[in-house]
Amino acid sequence: MIIAIDGPAGAGKSTIAKLIAKKINCTYINTGAMYRAVAYFLLKEEKSIESLKESELQALLAEINIQFKDERTILNGEDITEKIRTEEVARLASTVAKNPLVRERLTHLQRQIAKKEECVVMEGRDIGTVVFPNADVKIFLTASPEERARRRYEELVAKGQNVSYEEILQQIKKRDKQDTEREIAPLKPTEDYTIIDTTNKTIEEIADNIIKIVKSKLS
Ligand code: C5P
Repeated sequence: MIIAIDGPAGAGKSTIAKLIAKKINCTYINTGAMYRAVAYFLLKEEKSIESLKESELQALLAEINIQFKDERTILNGEDITEKIRTEEVARLASTVAKNPLVRERLTHLQRQIAKKEECVVMEGRDIGTVVFPNADVKIFLTASPEERARRRYEELVAKGQNVSYEEILQQIKKRDKQDTEREIAPLKPTEDYTIIDTTNKTIEEIADNIIKIVKSKLS
């Protein structure tokens, strides 16, 4: 069974998808971490995606091996779980995500990962539209940019970081624009999605609501 959870940055996808996977005993896959891994790899290699020829990018992508183990993201043997959580990597991930070769490679990897599992909760931007158009359940999580920026701001402040709410809001709006307006696999739900606005709802409430949808599909 494949449960696709798509939506913009800060809508609560990771927290909710993880909780659902735990409650119904499925494997959780975060595809955003895969785009972030490619961005991190290019940063480390000091290569900008715009300056690479197609053949060079193909060769680099072939070197990339991404694995998930116990909620850790492993890139070519290196644990990058925390290293890919910076705003710099997020911004670059959204840029590399526009590239057709990157999308083709990661879509292929995502399908391969899911093939090995009986049940997968996969979160991203294009899971129910491109990666698995026949997914059993398709959920689109949303919230206003202001609400999503507020959550991100509080999360970073709690971690002791000195950040500006306004700056975070601008970053979120910029990333939304890139993700929704790109030519390939734009962030946009089709009519077969259940759209859930996560503003003013608890994580538990949303997860239980989605599990109800899953169960009704099964019966
Ligand atoms: O989900 P997260 O914010 O970590 O994703 C980082 C970036 O990766 C997104 O802004 C988006 O550009 C890209 N992405 C994508 N398709 C996915 C998952 C993420 O284009 N399935």
